[in-house]
Amino acid sequence: MKFCSTCGQPVALLIPAGDHLPRHVCAACGTVHYQNPKVIVGCVPEWEDGRVLMCKRSIEPRLGLWTFPAGFLEMGETSGEGAARETLEESGAVVEIGELFAVINVPYVSQLFMLHRGRMTSAHHHATPESSETVLMREDEIPWDEIAFPTIYHGLKWFFEDRRLGVKDFHYLDLKFRHKIPGIREAAQESS
Ligand SMILES: [Zn+2]
Repeated sequence: MKFCSTCGQPVALLIPAGDHLPRHVCAACGTVHYQNPKVIVGCVPEWEDGRVLMCKRSIEPRLGLWTFPAGFLEMGETSGEGAARETLEESGAVVEIGELFAVINVPYVSQLFMLHRGRMTSAHHHATPESSETVLMREDEIPWDEIAFPTIYHGLKWFFEDRRLGVKDFHYLDLKFRHKIPGIREAAQESS
């Protein structure tokens, strides 16, 4: 940040009195501009035959790799509303949002992932500006070595594990560094 979004004057990076971290502070109007982590919401859309809806990314980052629908939570949304909106935007599918089943911290990119189960209300889905392909996949059809992000990889693994065991567990993970996951293509490991 270079300029104050309140008054348009330049900002300086400094630790305000009583604070403990550097913030962008406007000398002209005194506004302190706090920056906080982004929340990413997603859902694993499940069709009634057990297949889940996967999207091939047609945008960077991770163009050409696979994900289930997920994206940045918007102002005023709940995690479930955001996950349903992202699903519609990325795949054209309508879902009933189910339980929150995973929270994953990715502090090295200041992101928090909240993942829901989701039930597709019809088998309808289609490619979108964000997804070059949308495909209903059985577990054994998931392209595990072409998953876009470690968060998505973990989310899918938990989803299928729970379903196999007939449980609806909640999962929590801190990704503390850009670690390697066997099976994920090198390019997919650089960010969340
Ligand atoms: Zn200002």
